[in-house]
Parts: sequence; structure tokens; C-alpha cells
Amino acid sequence: MGPPGAGKGTRATRIADRYGIPAISTGDIFRANVAAATPLGITAKTYMDAGDYVPNEITDAMVRGRLAEPDCVRGFLPDGYPRTVEQVKELDAMLADPAVELDGVLILAVEPEELIQRLLHRAAVEGRADDTDAVIRRRQEIYAEQTAPLAAEYSARGLLAEVDGTGRVDYVTDRIHTEVARLRRRTR
Ligand code: ADP
Repeated sequence: MGPPGAGKGTRATRIADRYGIPAISTGDIFRANVAAATPLGITAKTYMDAGDYVPNEITDAMVRGRLAEPDCVRGFLPDGYPRTVEQVKELDAMLADPAVELDGVLILAVEPEELIQRLLHRAAVEGRADDTDAVIRRRQEIYAEQTAPLAAEYSARGLLAEVDGTGRVDYVTDRIHTEVARLRRRTR
């Protein structure tokens, strides 16, 4: 977990590589569908362009399908899912049968002003459709309203680790690996 601009995608890919599991980015899957103009992409695009979340039922069905693929058998790292209280329940249901235990939930923490700066920079470099000033602010609001509260739920389950996502890249990497190793020791 982490607000837009925290570095979730980059981090998720690296952690997943280290553990030999797939990183499953809901944002990337949606963007691939938008690019290919699939029915899912056409529906998702209107929400994404506005900075809103794609409705739970659509997102849940997509994740359920992805987790059923064979490369997820040895574990997986969802990046950007769950983001709502309903998605937490839905993920619990997906992990119940066959029973899979969550090792932990990692939150990348970055101050709001730095997030905005990073996203404006990314807008200039990558030109992502939802990295405009107004939409960036909207996405931060939605995250604060709908996703930040999930931390309390995972913390109550003893699954949460919050990592400072600022400063030198290799320092952030060290912090992440320490926390991931600590979380995994609890369940293995
Ligand atoms: P970021 O978190 O940096 O904004 P992502 O690539 O993770 O970017 O997500 C991009 C967009 O995809 C989101 O703004 C949202 O519209 C949609 N999206 C991604 N994950 C979800 C989710 N779990 N639930 C609903 N919508 C999602």
C-alpha cells in the first residue's frame, strides 16, 4: 500500500523479483486493458482519467482471475490491491479457498508535498493520462479517504509494516527488506 507517487510499482517489482513471485499491479493491468481497448479497459478508463477508483466488483473480478493463474501458486505480491474496505473482505474471501495466509502488508509512507512533486515530475517524463495537477490531487484525496483507513485493519491483525519511502533509494530498499523479512518470520 501507499499513496499515489510513493513508489509502490517500482518497489513491488523489486520485492517480487527477490522472492521469485509475481507482482500484480492492478493499475498496470487496467492500463494494459485501456491500451488494448478491451471492454474492461473502456469501462476502467472513465474512472481512471477522473482519478477515481474503478468499482469494486470490476476490480475484484479482475484480481480473482489473475490470482487463479498458475504463477501465483508459490505466492504473489498484490500492488495497489486492496484499496477499499470491501476489497479487503473480498481478498479475505479469495485467500480462504484454497487457504493462503497473508505474510504482511507493507505501507510506503511519503509526505503529501513530496508526492505531488514526484507525480508532476512523472507527468513530465512518462505522460500518464492521470498525472495532471487536478487528477493528482483527487487521487491523493481518494487514497486518504478510502485506502489509508485500511492500515488500522491490518495493524489490528498484526500484519502491518510502515516504511519511510523517502531518502536514498538503497536506504529505502534496506528498510523494506528488513520489514518483509520480519513479517515473513512470523508466518513461516
Ligand atoms: P497510483 O496509485 O500511483 O495512482 P496505480 O497504477 O496503482 O496508480 O492505479 C491507477 C488507477 O487504477 C487508480 O487511480 C484507479 O483508478 C485504478 N485502480 C488501481 N487499483 C485499483 C483498486 N484496487 N481499486 C480500484 N481502482 C484501482
